Amino acid sequence: MKQGIHPEYHEVEVRCGCGATWRTRSTKKELTLEICSSCHPFFTGRQKLVDTEGRVERFMKKYGEVTVAGRRQQEADRRRRAARRAATS
Ligand SMILES: [Zn+2]
Repeated sequence: MKQGIHPEYHEVEVRCGCGATWRTRSTKKELTLEICSSCHPFFTGRQKLVDTEGRVERFMKKYGEVTVAGRRQQEADRRRRAARRAATS
């Protein structure tokens, strides 16, 4: 490696706004993030949308039952009904 042209690469603690911390290596002295893989909606599957026109609601009303979440809900309902039927008979 050529001397004097490479930034220093050291171990740092990364801190996210959600409270998660971990160690990695970086040329920065410290790393603070607003969002990380344990709180980003893409990884958590949670929705964090600003829906001012009710577009999500309208979409869910129209296509809700054909989404994965909708199908899971239907499955859960079906199982609950079956369990109730089994309990009463
Ligand atoms: Zn985070």
